[in-house]
Amino acid sequence: MTLRRIEPLAGEVGLYPGALSGEERQPNVGVIRTPQQTILVDAGSSPRHARRLMGELTARDYPPVSTIIYTHHHPGHILGAQVFSAARIIAHVQALPALRGLAAHPWTAALLQEDYRRGAVSPGRYEAMQRALHEVRELRVLPPTIGFDRRLTLFCDDLQVELIHVGGAHAPDSLIVKIPRLRVMFLGDCYAPPLNGEGTPLHQRLDAALLTRLLDEDYALYVDGHQPPYTRAQLQALRGEPG
Ligand SMILES: [Zn+2]
Repeated sequence: MTLRRIEPLAGEVGLYPGALSGEERQPNVGVIRTPQQTILVDAGSSPRHARRLMGELTARDYPPVSTIIYTHHHPGHILGAQVFSAARIIAHVQALPALRGLAAHPWTAALLQEDYRRGAVSPGRYEAMQRALHEVRELRVLPPTIGFDRRLTLFCDDLQVELIHVGGAHAPDSLIVKIPRLRVMFLGDCYAPPLNGEGTPLHQRLDAALLTRLLDEDYALYVDGHQPPYTRAQLQALRGEPG
C-alpha cells in the first residue's frame, strides 16, 4: 500500500494524488481548506481510498468535510463518498438519473453479481463497484443532494468556488471547478475520450475543442482526474499533440 499525502497546490487548495496503476486505479481528489470547512473535488474510488484520505485530513487537522463535488458520475470518482456521510454532494443535474438506480439500495457482493448477470449493471461499473467492495460489506452510492444546470458559485467562508458545466464526450454531466483567486481549475475527466474508447492512446482522442475552451482563461494550474497537475503551457502542449 502506498501512503499518499495531500500536496499543496496554491493557498487553500491541495491535491490528494491518485494512482494510475497498482491495487486500485485511484483518481485525484481535490482538497479545499477554508477556516470552517473542507471541500472535496470528487470522493475517491472506494471507501478504502476515502478512509485513507480521511486519515490524512484528520492527521493534519482539517475542518470537517462539508461538501463533495462530483466532477461526473463515473464510479471511480464517487464511490468513496459514503465515508463522508455528513457532507452535501453537489453535481450537475444529469448526474442524478445516472446515479439514482445505483443509489436506491446498499450493494453487497451477491446483489451486485446478480444484477450484473441480469445485465442491469455495465461491465465497467461492475468491475469498479466490485473493487470498491473489497473492504466493506455494503457499498452505498450517494446521489447528489444539490444539482445545478449551467453554473453555480459557492462562497466557502471567504473563498469563491465556481462550478461550470462543460459536458463533453466522456460524460454528459462533466463539470469543472474553478478557484479564481488562486487560479486553479479542477477538470475531472472532461476532455478524455468516452469510456468505450479505451485502448486508443489517450492523446489521440482528447476533446481539442473542450481543451481550447479550458485555455480561454489564464489559470496557473489545471488538475484533471488522473494525471499530475498541468501548467497552462503543459495543457496547451497536450492539445497540440499530433492526433
Ligand atoms: Zn470518467
